[in-house]
Amino acid sequence: MKKEINLTKEDISNLLNGKYNNEKVCAFGITHFKYSDCNEEDLVQVDEVIRVHKKCKKAFDKMQNAAKEDKIRIKIVSGYRSSKYQIDIFKRKFLNKDNPTEKELRQRLKFSAPSGFSEHHTGLAIDINSNSQNFEKSRAYKWLAENANKYGFEMSFPRKCRQNLGFEPWHWRYVGDKESEKIFNKAKMFSQDIAK
Ligand SMILES: [Zn+2]
Repeated sequence: MKKEINLTKEDISNLLNGKYNNEKVCAFGITHFKYSDCNEEDLVQVDEVIRVHKKCKKAFDKMQNAAKEDKIRIKIVSGYRSSKYQIDIFKRKFLNKDNPTEKELRQRLKFSAPSGFSEHHTGLAIDINSNSQNFEKSRAYKWLAENANKYGFEMSFPRKCRQNLGFEPWHWRYVGDKESEKIFNKAKMFSQDIAK
């Protein structure tokens, strides 16, 4: 079945410029949900460049220590990203920045979120160790798959993800308290649907 694009020229322009205001982006059978930027006062430094929500940092530190005891090294390689910064990330790989082909747009939506639709905006989503699908073969990934839920983390985009995004074994979100869980409510409901 051919997946429809469902986006007008105006929608595409808005997506590229961070001005798409719907609650979700649906195109080519791919779905992205809307997220707000984390409040500045909730962000803490992980190192000189990376910041995450303080709740995420606290939970990650615990998890990192537990991993260390099992001789596994885990490290945050990407955390909070503002919706403003995401405009650049989303646009960066289009050959013709303002007028991508349908194929380009589908590829981008599969592996990257438009501004306003990245879990990284919340400060509660992190990339761990790598940005490579080979991460799935690492001991660190195996450890996370078995233990991360004890610390409130879950993988956002498993292989069978109804959002239909690319498989991202390195990308985890913190859902360890009611408030954080609520932020990812729609995405969670969407992935539960697939299990039925
Ligand atoms: Zn990520």
